[in-house]
Amino acid sequence: MPKRVNFGKLIEQQLPPELVNFMWVAGEMANSRGEKLYLVGGAVRDLMLEQANFDLDLVVEGNAIELAQQLKEINKGKITTHPRFNTAKLQWRDWSIDLATARRETYARPGALPAVTPSSIDDDLARRDFTINAMAICLNPGDYGRLVDPYGGRDDLQNQRIRILHEKSFTDDATRIWRGLRYEQRLDSHLEKKTLVLLQRDIAMLDTISADRIRYEIECILKEKYPEKVFNRAYELGVLAALHPSLMGDGGLAEKFEKARKECSPLPPSFDLYLALLAYPLNTEEIEQLISRLNLPRLSAKTLRDTIAIKNRMRSLSTPGVSPSAIYNLLRAFSPSALETNSLVTQSAVASQAIHLFLNRLKDVQLSLTGDDLIEMGIAPGPRIKEILEMLHQAKLNGKITTRNDEEEMVRIWLAEKQGE
Ligand code: ATP
Ligand code: MG
Repeated sequence: MPKRVNFGKLIEQQLPPELVNFMWVAGEMANSRGEKLYLVGGAVRDLMLEQANFDLDLVVEGNAIELAQQLKEINKGKITTHPRFNTAKLQWRDWSIDLATARRETYARPGALPAVTPSSIDDDLARRDFTINAMAICLNPGDYGRLVDPYGGRDDLQNQRIRILHEKSFTDDATRIWRGLRYEQRLDSHLEKKTLVLLQRDIAMLDTISADRIRYEIECILKEKYPEKVFNRAYELGVLAALHPSLMGDGGLAEKFEKARKECSPLPPSFDLYLALLAYPLNTEEIEQLISRLNLPRLSAKTLRDTIAIKNRMRSLSTPGVSPSAIYNLLRAFSPSALETNSLVTQSAVASQAIHLFLNRLKDVQLSLTGDDLIEMGIAPGPRIKEILEMLHQAKLNGKITTRNDEEEMVRIWLAEKQGE
């Protein structure tokens, strides 16, 4: 990156004209209100890296909600405001822009949500996590393109350094521990020496963070291109153990995640699938601990529980010659992600084939006949109906019958046998 860069030019070169135009107009409008407007945070970092990021955050030294309302008149988009936080979101077409009032934050105690007061851009940058995320570009005419970089974020970005702004950063907000590892791996960087020492010192502070906030960080990691890199690093530093001491990050995890990506391609693996692969080494009791540490939604929790339940049934599934109906009965209650997880992890080709047979065919096998059809055929209403439907379903799973005619024929034979009894 050349030393002297016009950051206004960088915006024009890298963002779509409509967004460039919007920011220019917003800067003019703020200016006429006697306010200063800045592009901040991740968008500035990614402009410098020439990585597309249309997720724009603007900060105004003034009143974000009033400015957003005025801007809405121009682009006729949707506006959502949060008066409590002095922020607004503007959405039109595919774009979404966050507008916040520059603020100062103070932490009453570690892990608590901060108290905020309106303030200057300098104070707003001072509350941020890492130097590379604590830069701003001014958007006011006359000052357009001026970089505000009080902590040397640009230099750190060039030297691939992840650095916190002050000694108490991880104590104030330990989610930054996970964030730091995520940026380090995503940007092929390294945690600056002192930052690394403080990060390890403050690992126990993760206990001050609520389950929902930890889950959010894990979700962010699982949206990265290579989440395993973050978990492996977290394992090495002792951060993963703070999530659960039995979690493992090593070569094995990388292999499983890579396999999952191939299997799911072109889509990325889901949160549930990745998490189940990560949680695979845990036992039933440990899984419950992880579920509550992350306050997982019901279906994700089921996927984790199912993963372990299937793991405990792998021996039956690995036996050659298990009938399709037996496979169906073994696997019918489990979530697809839990099945996929076991298929990815198992060393047994037989078990893996059984799981895929279930996922690709058996789970969708349905009868043509219904209970009403059976009654019409002369079977008395009652528990028998369910038994017969069950018997037909098993026969269909095992390929003994396929068509509606086959089903009817089977029922007729059964009826004839009954009459003969
Ligand atoms: P990403 O590409 O992962 O979205 P981002 O930098 O846009 O990166 P966001 O989580 O969208 O990250 O947050 C936007 C900005 O808010 C960050 O750049 C950072 O300046 C600030 N920020 C977010 N979370 C924290 C935090 N826990 N502590 C301090 N600052 C934070
Ligand atoms: Mg972002």
